[in-house]
Amino acid sequence: MLLDKTISELKIGLLKGEFTSVDLVNECYRNIKTINPKVNAFITIVDQEIALKKAKEADKKLKNANSLLLGIPFVLKDAYLSKDLLTTCASDVLEDFIPPYSATVYKKLEDAGAILLGKMNMDAWGHGGSSENTDFGPVKNPWNLERVAGGSSGGPAAAIATRMTSFAIGEDTGGSIRNPSAWCNTTGLKVTYGRVSRYGCIAYASSFDSVGPMGKTVQDCAYILETIAGRDPYDATSSPQPVPSYIQKLSESVKGLTIGLPKEFFREGLNEEIRNSIFFMAKELKKLGIKIKEISMPLFDYGIPVYYLIGPSETSSNLARYDGIRFGQGRENFSEETMRRIMIGTYALSAGYYDAYYRKAQQARTLFVREYQKALAECEALLMPVNPTPPTKIGELMSDPLQNLLADVYTTSQNPVGVPSLAVPCGFTKDNLPIGAQIVGNMFSEDILLRIGFQYQQVTDWHKKYPILK
Ligand code: GLN
Repeated sequence: MLLDKTISELKIGLLKGEFTSVDLVNECYRNIKTINPKVNAFITIVDQEIALKKAKEADKKLKNANSLLLGIPFVLKDAYLSKDLLTTCASDVLEDFIPPYSATVYKKLEDAGAILLGKMNMDAWGHGGSSENTDFGPVKNPWNLERVAGGSSGGPAAAIATRMTSFAIGEDTGGSIRNPSAWCNTTGLKVTYGRVSRYGCIAYASSFDSVGPMGKTVQDCAYILETIAGRDPYDATSSPQPVPSYIQKLSESVKGLTIGLPKEFFREGLNEEIRNSIFFMAKELKKLGIKIKEISMPLFDYGIPVYYLIGPSETSSNLARYDGIRFGQGRENFSEETMRRIMIGTYALSAGYYDAYYRKAQQARTLFVREYQKALAECEALLMPVNPTPPTKIGELMSDPLQNLLADVYTTSQNPVGVPSLAVPCGFTKDNLPIGAQIVGNMFSEDILLRIGFQYQQVTDWHKKYPILK
């Protein structure tokens, strides 16, 4: 199958004329036809003829273009505006919304000649960690169809795992790229806040949201990031920091780097098989010449309350624009989970409660910034779990809203701080369910995280395993 190849292998094959972009696109649509009805990853599938037309154009340009992603098929989480193409954010509120312009990240990929295949299922508005809080039906985990794919970018991860696309763009406010990557056995990068433009990304919590790559390998993520990163005049929070060649830096030595294992992240509540897999990964990293050091991050327990006060506060403000007049349908179409978040946020921001909740949470956020700075002054990166458990059964988290929030315990503290985090496959449970680990670094240290992840993937093959659907 062509879609088993990494982006770099696809590029080589395309350039040598071993296959064409048309072949690639056709293979994706064959897979979409047979697999998507089982996993429910797509909300909108782009008309095959439109994708093929773009593939033909890419094939003509291949010889004299040096774009990293020319002719490579991809999908977008349905949180990204796509001009003239339905964009729902997985909510009935936007069931008929056709955007008049495209998100910067989509424009950049289009300009690079990558080929959009569809808009992907997710937790509506990014509210969730299982892709069940969607008005389009839950995304099923391709490793076990009775379980969830993770969220909120569940559709993108399931589509990569099942080879319905080569890569995807996800969005991560508190784990949404990392969590489904870990549960579907794909690789995903939550970038530093501001590294990639958010323009045209439907806002959940604007000071947490980050746009990032999802792919089969760390090297794939480097290819994508190099294409989408950089300053954007349309997003004042996008960073002017120069974009390095992430691809070139992948093979620089990792010897002598130090990785911290924050002991609080490995306490009670973490599934035993996940803990063992991450410790095993630490051993593999040690063999690469990386020093492993136990460190302490005592604020750990406050990550969830800080995130779940500021996140809903920002979402209550962001979702106020869906007033039933300018966009789509009325507010009564918001799901229970989304209404709950709007209410919590409105409460935390209201006069009399602002000081007790919102301001306190922002103060605690500053303490988290310091805690990460301190931890990352002792080492170049931190190694931690992504999820406390393997993928849950469909319905399990939805019937227990508190448990649903607690499941985000490892992925919510990085976004209020702004630091990047790379999720990579690192093992399987005895029931053949994927396990992921995250490598967290200093602001704008994506190159280091990608380098560590890349070299880990050179000596392990967890990332090469993919689900066979019956
Ligand atoms: N699960 C988290 C939440 O529900 C994170 C979601 C996200 O990153 N978009 O808020």
